[in-house]
Amino acid sequence: MNINGLNFCVIGGGIGGMAAALALRSQGAQVTVLEQAPELTEVGAGLQISANGMAVLRALGVAGKVPEAGQISGGTVLRDYRNGRVISRVPVPAAGSTYYYHRADLLDLLHKAALRSGVDIRLDAPVATVHKHPSEAEIVLESGERLRAECAIAADGGRSAIRPILNGPEIPVFSRQVAWRATIPWTQREELPCASLTMGPGRHVVTYPLRDQRLVNFVAIEERSDWQEEGWRRQGDPDDLRTRFADFGGPVGDILSKIDEVHLWALFLRPVAQIWQNGRLALLGDAAHPTLPFMAQGACLALEDAWVLTRAFQDNSGVARALATYEATRRPRARQVVGAAGANARNFHLRGPMRLAAQAALMAVGPRLARRYEWIYSYDATA
Ligand SMILES: Cc1cc2nc3c(=O)[nH]c(=O)nc-3n(C[C@H](O)[C@H](O)[C@H](O)COP(=O)(O)OP(=O)(O)OC[C@H]3O[C@@H](n4cnc5c(N)ncnc54)[C@H](O)[C@@H]3O)c2cc1C
Repeated sequence: MNINGLNFCVIGGGIGGMAAALALRSQGAQVTVLEQAPELTEVGAGLQISANGMAVLRALGVAGKVPEAGQISGGTVLRDYRNGRVISRVPVPAAGSTYYYHRADLLDLLHKAALRSGVDIRLDAPVATVHKHPSEAEIVLESGERLRAECAIAADGGRSAIRPILNGPEIPVFSRQVAWRATIPWTQREELPCASLTMGPGRHVVTYPLRDQRLVNFVAIEERSDWQEEGWRRQGDPDDLRTRFADFGGPVGDILSKIDEVHLWALFLRPVAQIWQNGRLALLGDAAHPTLPFMAQGACLALEDAWVLTRAFQDNSGVARALATYEATRRPRARQVVGAAGANARNFHLRGPMRLAAQAALMAVGPRLARRYEWIYSYDATA
């Protein structure tokens, strides 16, 4: 791959933006990242990175360098909400283990690797808009400063300010689901750490270890209609959370009793973008394909995007051709994965007789469930 001398501007220093910057730089490009935040901070939360995401982290040379990251080597346990009874176990996918990371650790890893490789990272640099010129993209910061690059990559997240430049204005739809997120200290070590998915009527809870099992990551999804605000840093009330999940027993009940700080995130829906690029500007990560978190694939897709985008430049056929190849390769894959996550929103929250029937079915097919999603995990963008 030879993109020596090409000048890229990446908008957004999240997981997708940092991975893209690192991948492009590793092939010789000049890369500037513009991040709106004055410092790179993260809410305390975990990320599961499945084999398809790990393939990219390995290719970027950053996998395995966080001592605290670990493998979910025991697969996923499916539990009933009332007493935590195990309904079924989904084994580790054939494609390989899923790893768990603290978001801040993964971001820090990417950030440091990007800095070491010579990426120019500018904080406190919110971008207002991007103009397309025949041989350049012009990036306009909110401060009025203007930068020029041969290619601009918008990795500015699910509420991207840049996406409407390509797709026009869109009104996000509230999914009627909110996510409560917390991490708590933990002392019970497991030989084979696993993730737990505990399903109840209208709600489900995902838990898994973090930082060498010293923390537990807790995500509780609840169906709700009383919400207007989009955002993920809103402080929640732990007692309110406990009341809303009071009928959850077993391990979840135990974790709930220990939570003293929680954040709330309303889940809004935007479709996979119709238009991903215009020959000088391309969308990447959540900006292109926001997803409900029910397959734990948003960050994994952003990592795949970063690699495929970089690879699209390998035949030196120009920026416009490379971006067209990137869009054609990534859009069908993103649509498929986002669709699978949307389907799980219904499956996890069944009520009454439907839930009992689904549990019976899960008991029978649980061990084979990993195979059902093997097409997600076995995809290797770096192959
Ligand atoms: C509850 C929950 C659990 C999840 N769990 C998982 C999981 O286990 N595994 C997984 O793979 N995914 C998971 N995800 C999804 C994952 O968090 C996202 O898909 C991923 O963070 C997207 O990365 P990104 O870089 O595209 O966007 P973001 O992480 O949102 O980063 C965007 C960056 O752009 C910056 N920015 C925004 N606007 C501007 C601007 N105008 N100018 C400059 N900078 C700007 C922002 O400050 C931010 O730093 C989960 C999501 C949720 C809600």
